[in-house]
Amino acid sequence: MTASSQNIAADLLGWYDRHARDLPWRAQPGQPAPDPYRVWLSEVMLQQTTVAAVKPYFAKFTERWPTVYDLAAAAEEDVMAAWAGLGYYSRARNLVRCARQVAELGSFPDTEEDLRKLPGLGAYTAAAVAAIAFGQRAVVVDANVERVVSRLFAITTPLPNSRPEIRANADSITPDERAGDFAQAIMDLGSGICTARDPKCLLCPLAYHCAARKSDDPARFPIKAPKKAKPVRQGTAFWIERDGHVWLETREGTGMLGGMRALPDDGWHSKTDGSGNAPLSGDWESMGVVRHTFTHFGLEMTVKRLTVTENPLERDGQWWAIADIGEAGLPTLFAKAARLVTAQQN
Ligand code: SF4
Repeated sequence: MTASSQNIAADLLGWYDRHARDLPWRAQPGQPAPDPYRVWLSEVMLQQTTVAAVKPYFAKFTERWPTVYDLAAAAEEDVMAAWAGLGYYSRARNLVRCARQVAELGSFPDTEEDLRKLPGLGAYTAAAVAAIAFGQRAVVVDANVERVVSRLFAITTPLPNSRPEIRANADSITPDERAGDFAQAIMDLGSGICTARDPKCLLCPLAYHCAARKSDDPARFPIKAPKKAKPVRQGTAFWIERDGHVWLETREGTGMLGGMRALPDDGWHSKTDGSGNAPLSGDWESMGVVRHTFTHFGLEMTVKRLTVTENPLERDGQWWAIADIGEAGLPTLFAKAARLVTAQQN
């Protein structure tokens, strides 16, 4: 570490000691490290999701499954249902697999290298858990850190090609001591001071060190390669109603929204567009369209309704009381579809 890198770490940690956010999964500066289970759970939940959205889910999960062993013993469908609404559902499937592996091992591994071997732990999560729960020196780079480091060093290479340069610079300022506090400090700085659109340089503990601040427009960093427009797929979901109940199925375990309860659909998830084919022939009524954005594409999903008097479906699923549809743990896309239909029934 050079003298200047040491100063950056010291200034940031000094600021963190005074301004650390009080979060339910976190130990305050200088306190013993929190339970690795809570650190891991919060980091998985926080991927692509805001702190405000995660808090109630974190509270619900830790109340229902207070330890990693409780989560390991849970039924996967209960975990998937409890996760509903947080999105990126492969995280929830990996959560259960990871908890079971940790329970088999007896405890969480305490090195970044061994944490990486657990299901669903990418470079970021493994580094974050190693640093925050075990105090290991690890270079933790999330979107907040990318932004702060791009600005501190005025990196002009556009993202994503700048990632190796960002990582090398993040490494150069990560201290040997208090690596967990440092990781959380730079995340806090990125979320509250060095924000995407409006960096508050006058309040920033790193202003003296920051190359972007010396330019007129620090917010132009990180420089990003132009985005390609996302393709939009067409699909159809089918609301089959019988005596106050709607037909729900559990989606294939490994595909999109796998393991989640949902309405039957026409296969839009595995093709460019869905087939439009219904699981039953009948006089289907179009209820409207819901729109949803996934990571790699947008979806315009038509919702169609059919009322039946007998059970003509020879496939796995269940009739779910429409009055309790809010308890079904539907992922957001299908919850939107359910709202579209039920709003027209009231
Ligand atoms: Fe971000 Fe401004 Fe601080 Fe630089 S001085 S790290 S641009 S808030």
